Amino acid sequence: MKPSNLPCIPFSPPRIDDKTIAEVTAALQSGWITTGHRVKEFEKRLAQYVGIEKVVCVNSASAGLELMLRWFGVQEGDEVIVPAYTYCATANVVVHCGAKPVMVDVNSTDFNINIKNVENAITKKTKVIIPVDFAGFPCDYDELNQLVNKENIKKKFTPKTAEQKMLGRILILSDSAHSVGATYKGKHTGALTDITVFSFHAVKNLTTAEGGAICLNLPAVFNQEELYKYLCVKSLHGQSKDALSKTQIGNWRYDVCEAGYKCNMTDILAAIGLVELERYENDMLIKRKHIFDQYTAAFSKDERFEVPVYKTDTKTSSYHVYPLRIKNITENERDCIIQKITEQNISVNVHFIPLPMLSFYKNRGYNIADFPVAYDNFAREISLPVYYDLTDEQVERVVAAVMGK
Ligand SMILES: *Cc1c(COP(=O)(O)O)cnc(C)c1O
Repeated sequence: MKPSNLPCIPFSPPRIDDKTIAEVTAALQSGWITTGHRVKEFEKRLAQYVGIEKVVCVNSASAGLELMLRWFGVQEGDEVIVPAYTYCATANVVVHCGAKPVMVDVNSTDFNINIKNVENAITKKTKVIIPVDFAGFPCDYDELNQLVNKENIKKKFTPKTAEQKMLGRILILSDSAHSVGATYKGKHTGALTDITVFSFHAVKNLTTAEGGAICLNLPAVFNQEELYKYLCVKSLHGQSKDALSKTQIGNWRYDVCEAGYKCNMTDILAAIGLVELERYENDMLIKRKHIFDQYTAAFSKDERFEVPVYKTDTKTSSYHVYPLRIKNITENERDCIIQKITEQNISVNVHFIPLPMLSFYKNRGYNIADFPVAYDNFAREISLPVYYDLTDEQVERVVAAVMGK
């Protein structure tokens, strides 16, 4: 058989089966399709899974990140520290608020934001740090949490809003789009820092087609229950009552307290999420880890490859992306290898093109030469297929194709 006749191995199709379809059908037939009981149940179960009090579901991680930047009052003149190596959403939401994304270089070991570089980038204008758990591997949260609480760093902090005064320091808003279910020192992501946002986009580990969740884990001066209620209102036009509570008899009158946003999650999407979450820890994560282990067993035997870290004494990944690197190659050579893999009907990707290489950020004066580690990670990286229905035989085909066999 010619290689091109082999069946296609996609990169990351969602796991949709009869159970998912039955739950979505039940939601459709229930008479209530927008935000309702299923969303509330999904929020409750997510909070239990993460080990915190309150989770707010929204229609994307991007919306969740922006909602929290707006809540904290991030605005023109402010700076937000982000890794140069991430998806554009991390920085775009900062731009939406009128603030400046301050990019810092990452680690070559695990691709995550480098804490020393974060410290050097902090100024009087810094309001928020957005670490990204790249590929599902948690950042150094102890170091980050300690950094924002250091006396000299707190002294620099210049609060403008009531929320900023209450916190009294830089906020950590984790972009955990990749890392639902990952752990650091025995705790799940979502419980590791002030605020954590998950993505349930179609390619992510746990999907609702599109969707996101905000995990609230702020210091005790903030009332999480009140903040939860406030964010439900803020994500629904600032309207004092949601559609469901308005359906109760005599409950039609409402008020609008602020020009809020429109980014609530629907019950149809929560129906998918409830099925996904139920089988996430003991099924999805085990399957994904098995695939990671197979790739690592194969590629660690070959000198040409650099396998990713996804487990240490203190951290476990959510096994979202398998970012293989090839030693001593150029960006061009990497592209040629991808071309050869693709010719065998196997889909691979590159995570990510560093932000300074994208036109919008390049035109704003960011220069990839200032981020040598991010560039090196990118130039030698190939992300391999990882998804629930990927079989051992398919993994072997991917390994053979990457090895040039
Ligand atoms: C997918 C992704 C997002 C955005 O998630 P959405 O739910 O699509 O808004 C943000 N950050 C990173 C690192 C991502 O990979």
